[in-house]
Amino acid sequence: MIGLISATAAGAAARDRLAAAWPGRTRVYEGPVGEAVRTAFAECEQLVCFLATGAVVRLLAPLLGDKAADPGVVCVDEGGRFAVSLLGGHGGGANELAREAGELLGAEPVVTTATDAVGLAGLDTLGLPYEGSVATVSRALLDGEPVALEAESAWPLPPLPTSPQGAYTIRLTDRDVAPGEREVLLRPPSLVVGVGASRGAPVEEVLGLVEGALREAGLSPRSVAELATVDAKSEEPGIVAAAERLGVPLVTYSAEELAAVEVPHPSHAPLAAVGTPSVAEAAALVRGGELLVPKRKSVREDGQAAMATCAVVRRPGRGRLAVVGLGPGARDLLTPRAAAELRRASVLVGLDQYVDQIRDLLRPGTRVLESGLGAEEERARTAVAEARKGHAVALIGSGDAGVYAMASPALAEASEDIDVVGVPGVTAALAAGAVLGAPLGHDHVSISLSDLHTPWEVIERRVRAAAEADIVVTFYNPRSRGRDWQLPKALAILAGHREPTTPVGVVRNASRPDEASRVTTLAGLDPATVDMMTVVTVGNTATRIIAGRMVTPRGYRWQERTQEGAR
Ligand code: SAH
Repeated sequence: MIGLISATAAGAAARDRLAAAWPGRTRVYEGPVGEAVRTAFAECEQLVCFLATGAVVRLLAPLLGDKAADPGVVCVDEGGRFAVSLLGGHGGGANELAREAGELLGAEPVVTTATDAVGLAGLDTLGLPYEGSVATVSRALLDGEPVALEAESAWPLPPLPTSPQGAYTIRLTDRDVAPGEREVLLRPPSLVVGVGASRGAPVEEVLGLVEGALREAGLSPRSVAELATVDAKSEEPGIVAAAERLGVPLVTYSAEELAAVEVPHPSHAPLAAVGTPSVAEAAALVRGGELLVPKRKSVREDGQAAMATCAVVRRPGRGRLAVVGLGPGARDLLTPRAAAELRRASVLVGLDQYVDQIRDLLRPGTRVLESGLGAEEERARTAVAEARKGHAVALIGSGDAGVYAMASPALAEASEDIDVVGVPGVTAALAAGAVLGAPLGHDHVSISLSDLHTPWEVIERRVRAAAEADIVVTFYNPRSRGRDWQLPKALAILAGHREPTTPVGVVRNASRPDEASRVTTLAGLDPATVDMMTVVTVGNTATRIIAGRMVTPRGYRWQERTQEGAR
């Protein structure tokens, strides 16, 4: 919950804008501000105070506790010009909150945490448990000292400016080692502990078994991602409580699913009791991975029969492939989500000219794999291969990456062992539409005139279908050197079904510094003025030029009405 506190009318107005934009996320604290700040500080994870920083500092001073537990606090000034991340920049999420609030209020976010200021990911913000001297190693990164990354498991970390060797180390490991003086340990959630228990098994017995198994195998409990068992044991108190004490979820599988898993130590007892020859090993292995600790039984001090079993598996880290559309060119048409994914990826794959477009957004340490025109298949394969190694990869494309671009070749290569995230971008047809007026007000299609990937007969059939159906058409890849007859041919097909006066919009380099556009007609268009940086939008029989803008009515009735009105 985000607590909102204000003192003045201007503050209250800004406060209400945040409350309206974030339904269910905020709580307004009214009344005297001192009391309001104290209550909100105790009740909320984050605070936005529409108050002077000085006032807030004085109010917060006696309340400050642990950096890890205190809420993040953002102050917004009376004029709504700045959103200051005051407290809990990383752990409290105040830097992010200042950015979000700033965006909504039109205020400049003010962030002073060193790692953010230079674009480094804070080691304490990676979403992984960590041990060791974060401050020391972060400072070394900031000072440009060599810091080595020793990743014993694959994990999709954000970019970190590390070196092959260094006096400082960031170690990604699930092994139970202690951090060195100049070392930070990051704990990937790579371990799955399968557990079985007979009815009434005490929590101490289950937990003792699990902790003992991890200890003897030299594994860190902080890397345990989940406890896994069979459905029938989903409410077994000893197992449920053990998961709770370890602070991990309990995941259960059907006996049928577990029975299908091949395990080294099947046995009769669980088969008779719950219908699968293995619970612990099968539940640990069911989603794949390497068996580190085969099934073992608890040992009871009273000499009674063991009531619990467990097995430990290490799962490979899942890589992450973000397919990111950069928009048509202008920086402010690149979405905030796309920018966030570019900063999130440690590996960036793309066409060199697109990489140049966004290089300044990348964090230090990002590995850039750029290639020239035409290497599409290779780029797709590279991006997927890097993700399958466990990296966080961004594959970029202009406009929308799914429109005549990289998303489909990449996803054709991708397997289920990686996570895929798509970020939509403003495609050229939309960017051009906004420049031209409202040409896409009714049904429309995009057709690429490039016969590189598609036989011309197929393209021609689609142009004909659009012509017959009276649909507005945007031509991508309309014309290039050596590919000059396709556009006239396509326009001729449309002209068979539309008047010579049908409006046509030509937009070159939409949203880029040298943007140029013109509205003409089917008869008036000179194909020689069209090139590969251009899209051509041909109206339907209802499209009109109104005040120099291309407008396709939302329906044919509207057209009748406006024509009657004009009469
Ligand atoms: N994925 C891109 C399209 C790639 S195909 C998108 O969604 O926009 C390349 C073609 O897109 C170019 O030949 C041109 O026709 C068109 N195009 C891309 N960006 C453009 C821009 N800024 N202005 C005009 N046309 C553009």
